[in-house]
Order: sequence, then C-alpha cells, then structure tokens
Amino acid sequence: MRNDQEFHIAVMAGDGIGLEVMAPCLELLTAVCARAGGLALRFEAIESGATYYREHGTALSDENLARAAKADAILLGAMGLPDVRYPDGREIAPQIDIRMALDLFAGVRPVRSIPGLSGPLSDPRAQNLDFVLIRESTEGLFAAMGKTKIVDDKIAYDTMEITRAGSERLFDFAFDLTAKRKAAGSPGVLTCVDKANVFGGFAFFRKIFFERAAAFPEIEARAAYVDAMALTQIRNPWDLDVLVTENMFGDILSDAGAALIGGMGVAPSADIGASHAVFQPCHGTAPDIMGTGKANPTAMFLSAAMMLDWLGNRHGEAKAIEAGALLQDAVEAAFAGGDLRPFEMGGTNGLKDITARVSETIHLHSSSRT
Ligand code: ATP
Repeated sequence: MRNDQEFHIAVMAGDGIGLEVMAPCLELLTAVCARAGGLALRFEAIESGATYYREHGTALSDENLARAAKADAILLGAMGLPDVRYPDGREIAPQIDIRMALDLFAGVRPVRSIPGLSGPLSDPRAQNLDFVLIRESTEGLFAAMGKTKIVDDKIAYDTMEITRAGSERLFDFAFDLTAKRKAAGSPGVLTCVDKANVFGGFAFFRKIFFERAAAFPEIEARAAYVDAMALTQIRNPWDLDVLVTENMFGDILSDAGAALIGGMGVAPSADIGASHAVFQPCHGTAPDIMGTGKANPTAMFLSAAMMLDWLGNRHGEAKAIEAGALLQDAVEAAFAGGDLRPFEMGGTNGLKDITARVSETIHLHSSSRT
C-alpha cells in the first residue's frame, strides 16, 4: 500500500492497442508527477489478457489479481482479442472480471468535449459537452456472465440482477458526485436511466433511487427511460449533468457518449469501489488498427489523469491532484489549436504525433511555471 514516498500503480497494459497506448502514458505520468513537486509513482507491470490466456490458460491468474489488489490504483490498457475465446464462445474479458472481483461498482464515464476536437454534432453547443454517465458495474444484466442457462438448445436465459444494497451504494455515489460537480458550478441534476415502465426490476431500481434522493435534497433527482435518454443524448446532450444507470444500459450509452465527443479514443473511464479503483480508456483493443500507429492515446492519458485526481482526493495528496490537472490541461492544450486531428476522426495524426504534442505541452507548462 501507499507509503510516504510513492503511490504503487498496478499496470495492466493488456492486448492490442492497450499495449500501444500504455507505454507513452507511463512516460507522461512520470513527467507530470515530476512537474508536480516530485510526486513518485512506482509502476508494477501485471500480465493478463488474451495473449496471456493463450499462453497460460487463464486470462488473469489469482496471483496476479492479488498483486493488483495490493496497489493503490490499477491502470489498465485494453484486453481481449476476437479470436481468443472461452470454450463457450465468449471473448475473454478480465477487465470485466476485475470489476466483479474487486467490487468496483461505479463505472464513471465522463463525456467532456475537448476544445479543438469536434464531434459529429454541428450545433455549437455540442462543442462544450460536459456530463457524466455512472454505470453500475457489478450486477444488472452482467450478473449473468458465465451463468447463461440454455435449455435443450431451444431457449437461453441470462438473468438480470438488481439488488437493494448494490443500488443504494451506486445511487449514493452518484448523488455525491453530482454534489461535487454542483459545488464546481454544474446544475446539480442527477437522472436515473432505466426501463421502469416495462420491467419490475427497473421499477425497483427507480424506487430505490428516489428513496436515496431524500438524503440529498440539494440535488434535483429525475428519472428517464433508456430509449428516451438515447434520443436526448443525441438531440440535446448539452442539457445533461449526471446520469446513473444499470450495467448493460451504461455499456451502451457510454459508447454513444464517446461518439459525441469524437470517438472511443478520447473517452476515459474509472471503475471505482470502496477500496480499489481501475482506470482505463473506454475503448477495447481495436485489432483492426493495432500495429498501424493509428491508435489515439488520448483516452488513456485522460484516464491516467482521473487516476491521479482520485489518488489525490483519497489520500489528501495535493501533488497528485495537481499532476492530474497538469495532464488533463496538457491534453486539452495539445488539441486546442485545432490542427491535431486523430485518424479515427478522419485526420492524419496517430499515437506518435498526439503523444509528442501532449508531451511538449507538459514541458512548456513546466517551463512557464518555473
Ligand atoms: P470491445 O469489443 O472490447 O469494445 P473493440 O476494439 O472491438 O473492443 P472498440 O474499442 O469499441 O471495439 O472500438 C471500435 C473501433 O473504434 C475499433 O475497431 C477502432 O477502429 C476504433 N477505436 C477504438 N479505440 C481507438 C483508439 N484509441 N484510437 C483509434 N481508434 C480507436
């Protein structure tokens, strides 16, 4: 665990472009921590993923999971390859198993525009999106993972599970996060996204949401059906503040959120529990572009910035909060001129160009501060 000198970071680069975006991310992390008063990070590489599964017959060994659990935070690239599957046909997905194993119930997916990088919406208000999707990450439909019941090759059952305890802790986390954003100037509106008009499980989910809302009178609690929210996310996403939803719905809405700000390569995430947290880009291993230099590392950098901020707040370490802000500012400054455009957005800039520009910006920042 953390000692006075350093934070211990478990690094699970994984497969495909996960490996590609992790390497420069560690360099930038070291650079921003040096700028922020010499904060020290100790990286411990932990192997897991599809390639590891191919060689060892397990995607994440108990021993490696235990090593990761001892770290102050886990930084993850991406895992899985389409041709590496369990005998039942599912892709290996240790990044999901970790959420279950370490009880990382709150998947935090910020949808925040990067100035200079336009998404697909032409409305000028879409240039300044800033909302957060919180995805429940340990139950919901994903509770059925590995437990599918198929009867006589005729009918398949995947059972969604929504518990009171799981929902209460999720909503409390979401209300707290909404309150923090409100303190920083956001509207203070939390919307529960569900399908309570059709499923009893979601009616239960919504009921618990409004029960918990009573403990947070300063926050405006609303509810919306997921189909209506899909429409809102595209038609007027600038009206959104914080959304909280079930695992499967969050999986889908968060990719749509990534699209709004330009693509998977710019969408960061954090999976947070009571005593552990994993930070990783929203994207997968993107086998179609691995090895081409086209991977956009921005989401990885922003996830690392979220990690520093989380560590700083959790441990009362101002240097970590400062380092996280430096990294986030450097990413934003790198794109601000509008001339850096990732391949995934139709541009010509890939891993090297984007890393170089962010790195330059970090060094510029540091020389302008000294
Ligand atoms: P998963 O199934 O785990 O979501 P995936 O790699 O199949 O993984 P996504 O990560 O959702 O799917 O990515 C979809 C596509 O978006 C990729 O195939 C790739 O073309 C593009 N993409 C994803 N991440 C990046 C990135 N960081 N930089 C550039 N393009 C990306």
